Amino acid sequence: MRAARAVVSIENPKLSIENSSVLSLRDLESWSFDGTALAVIGQPISHSISPAMHNAALAAMARIDRRFATWKYFRFEVPPADLADALALLHARNFRGINLTIPHKVLAIDHVAAIDPAAKAIGAVNTLLRTTTGWRGFNTDGYGLAAGLREDLGLDLAGAHIVLLGAGGAARGAAIECLDRRCASLGIVNRTPEHLASLLRALAPLRRSISLRGFAPNAVPADLAAGAIVINATSAGLRDSDAPPIDLAALPRPAGVYDMIYNPPRTALLRIAENLGLRCANGLSMLVHQGARSLAIWSDAEVPVNAMREAARAALRV
Ligand code: NAP
Repeated sequence: MRAARAVVSIENPKLSIENSSVLSLRDLESWSFDGTALAVIGQPISHSISPAMHNAALAAMARIDRRFATWKYFRFEVPPADLADALALLHARNFRGINLTIPHKVLAIDHVAAIDPAAKAIGAVNTLLRTTTGWRGFNTDGYGLAAGLREDLGLDLAGAHIVLLGAGGAARGAAIECLDRRCASLGIVNRTPEHLASLLRALAPLRRSISLRGFAPNAVPADLAAGAIVINATSAGLRDSDAPPIDLAALPRPAGVYDMIYNPPRTALLRIAENLGLRCANGLSMLVHQGARSLAIWSDAEVPVNAMREAARAALRV
């Protein structure tokens, strides 16, 4: 029997790079790694807990299949001006998979050789898989949202009335997932009317017979269905001082409230939902499930979601 490759060896010192290390394009220029490399790239990137989640999953996977003992997930700070160079270098250096975060999810579309149809409809990619001819792009955020909602609130997008807050990148992905899974209706609320109108126009060809409409935060339609799922996809709540993006008490009583924000863990919106006695959850489960889906795409193996969840909680100390 062949001996398993050493997990940390003199020939493979990068396996011992800490999850907290932030690498740069410069590190890539002189990169050599005797293993299978994965990475997240973004700017800023020092807040990302993806290395902690993915390396915990890979350690658990390696206990079952030694192939994964030499897989490692890194993070790189890459400014938008360097995105093209970074993606070309990551491909040349044989990286197997990449996660993209702010501000690269939309920009990276121009640098992929192939794209998954759902990611194309969203107009953004958060996951790249190496192919011989270049990167293939995917978007796992919508999957993560649907899985997180089911896990935390026991709610399904299929057949549900949805009130979606926001019209940015995350809202666009969430809206397409809601329509794909055939929600009963989709109401989108956004502060800036032009951004709302632009999202509604983009969604119109995908809505089939599903009721789709938009409204301003202070103009809730009188006929809005009770029992809706309220999903916050705005960045209102990232700062503790942020006001909630909608007056929850003015809505017909929802079935649950899901806030994509997970840090801070309890936004003003979630505090109000709790006070109203509503089922609610933050976006940690979405983060975990979108990450698990990316790792499944790269590894074609079963991914230990529990290990990722525990590592994410430990990294955030929640
Ligand atoms: P984005 O493209 O910049 O969009 C931001 C959205 O938030 C816009 O609709 C914007 O409205 C709205 N907004 C910003 N500040 C607001 C305020 N003070 N009051 C009301 N609305 C406000 O950002 P994004 O990429 O879609 O991300 C949105 C949020 O989702 C972020 O908090 C992000 O962390 C979170 N997210 C979480 C996950 C996860 O895995 N849990 C994944 C993706 C994103 P205007 O059009 O009026 O500017």
